[in-house]
Amino acid sequence: MEPMKATLQPTKAELTPEEIARYSRHIILPQVGLEGQQQLAAARILLIGMGGLGSPASLYLAAAGVGTLGLAEMDKVEEHNLQRQILHDTTMVGKSKIESARTRLLSLNPHIRIEEHPQGLTIGNALDLFGQYDLIIDGSDNFPTRYLVNDAAFFAGKPLVYGSIFQFEGQVSLFHPKAGSPCYRCLFPRMPEPGMVPNCEEAGVFGALCGVVGSLQALEGLKYLLGIGQSLTGRLLVVESLAMRFRTLRLNKEPDCPLCGKAPSILSLKKENYSFACCPDSPDGSGEKKSDTGFPIEIDVDEAARWLESENPPYLLDVREPYEAAVCKIKGSSLVPMKDIPEAIETFPSDRPIVVYCHHGQRSLRVTRFLREKGFTKVTSIIGGIQAWADNKEPEMARY
Ligand SMILES: [Zn+2]
Repeated sequence: MEPMKATLQPTKAELTPEEIARYSRHIILPQVGLEGQQQLAAARILLIGMGGLGSPASLYLAAAGVGTLGLAEMDKVEEHNLQRQILHDTTMVGKSKIESARTRLLSLNPHIRIEEHPQGLTIGNALDLFGQYDLIIDGSDNFPTRYLVNDAAFFAGKPLVYGSIFQFEGQVSLFHPKAGSPCYRCLFPRMPEPGMVPNCEEAGVFGALCGVVGSLQALEGLKYLLGIGQSLTGRLLVVESLAMRFRTLRLNKEPDCPLCGKAPSILSLKKENYSFACCPDSPDGSGEKKSDTGFPIEIDVDEAARWLESENPPYLLDVREPYEAAVCKIKGSSLVPMKDIPEAIETFPSDRPIVVYCHHGQRSLRVTRFLREKGFTKVTSIIGGIQAWADNKEPEMARY
């Protein structure tokens, strides 16, 4: 892969003797040097969200001497944030995250400038805001904001360092369609239906993973500004913290992408593209109440295998993403990614039981509950997903 060259005109800012001393471990790196450090001092990065990802990202960017950091965040610090949002401390509970962030970042590095955007990111201010910065770092934790960030970065022609976390797994990439790379919608064209995705509170998040993913975002941003190394553009880095595996999957620019494709359907930032009833899902599994109670909501891989080999096998539904199915799949399954389930519901057999699987068994359980709510009574999910299947049934199967 070609090293990513910064497309912005590298401008430089003069450094004082104190700054040169402060950044000396950067400056002695031949890939950075005094010139690179001066470029960082002139650079402007906008961070969306001062939470789990924005915390480590902003700390490293401030420490690295990125001259101007814009902070877009409207929330206050809450006690349960402190498990992972290391920018904030106990004394700041109840204060605005922006205030907390500014205090901490300027005490870390008084040579940088902080620009505050306490109204957060909105459809109304996104393009104007993005236009003022060289690079955007997305530390948002919800789908409407993530899609808004992606689309606004596209329309503003700015590079976007994407990061997200879910429980023990994280993802990082750099989207810059203007420079020929894919965007987030090339990977996930549409926002998932409310109820098809858990939110952070419901799903939980492993705190230290935020440190890994947010730091990687800072690292990618700095590389981009300096024009060094191989960027994650066109690649998706997947961090699996339980298995402690880092994988990079190739991402292609999708010609049918609704945003950056050949015949885009999204031509501007419109409210309806980012409306999402947040937290509509009940974690109590209320879907089961409406279902046929005689039918198990989950089965293990042994039972699934027996059933699939029987004379009357169930309909086997894979709800992972295509890039996952490209790695491995259970024979005879039909692929419908979780976010597309509501649209595909008509195509599912109503007279045949359905067995659903995903990577680890969480998405499939969610889809199982959703289908039960929609009137499919004989739906069940494979416990542990294809990972458990590979471990127990097909040890030679490729894993990810
Ligand atoms: Zn795209």
